[in-house]
Amino acid sequence: MKIYFDMISYLKPLFILICFVSFVNCSSQTLNSRVLPAEPINDTVFVNLKDYSQDFVYDMKYASDDNFLKSKVYDCAECYLRYKTVKALILANKRFMKKGFKIKLFDCYRPLDIQKRMWAIVSNPQYVANPAKGSIHNRGGAVDLTLVNFDGKELDMGTSFDFFGKEAGHNFAGFSNEILNNRNLLKKNMIKEHFNSFDSEWWHYNLKAGLNDKVSNFKWECE
Ligand SMILES: [Zn+2]
Repeated sequence: MKIYFDMISYLKPLFILICFVSFVNCSSQTLNSRVLPAEPINDTVFVNLKDYSQDFVYDMKYASDDNFLKSKVYDCAECYLRYKTVKALILANKRFMKKGFKIKLFDCYRPLDIQKRMWAIVSNPQYVANPAKGSIHNRGGAVDLTLVNFDGKELDMGTSFDFFGKEAGHNFAGFSNEILNNRNLLKKNMIKEHFNSFDSEWWHYNLKAGLNDKVSNFKWECE
């Protein structure tokens, strides 16, 4: 009988320890599954921005017919980019959030087949990049975006997204100081995170490190 009680007194702390370890292990797994997915091994892997940050606003224009093509060319609205573009964009967004703004996205990675679809609707290199060459959007390194305040209201950038005219260019100086300051706020902070601006479109930014990636036709699943 004494041996039996001795065993119990040894086993009890062991049992408590096992319970504790499995509880910690289990709760940390639950916590991890709620946070970000594992980092891709490679910077050039295509990932969905929303899996890495919930701090962006989306208005994916080509997933609706509210665009200059008057056509819905994406089957569903997702913002896929190469992982290095996602990391740089999250850092840029953190800069804006400290100032009371957030990035609102209009377009991200664009599979080559979608570029071909756009080219078939408007075969003019002034408005759509020729799929024979491809654009940085097809390489997963370009984003079209603006800034909104925390209530979701867009900052006045002088023209709408995809406005084709000199007013959309960074060199156009005929706007109020407020508009010029808004464009400058966007440009200055995107450049700090290693994006290049594009002279004729205030909304378009290319990740410098993404310029030489291959044109891709990777496609995402729509739910
Ligand atoms: Zn663009």
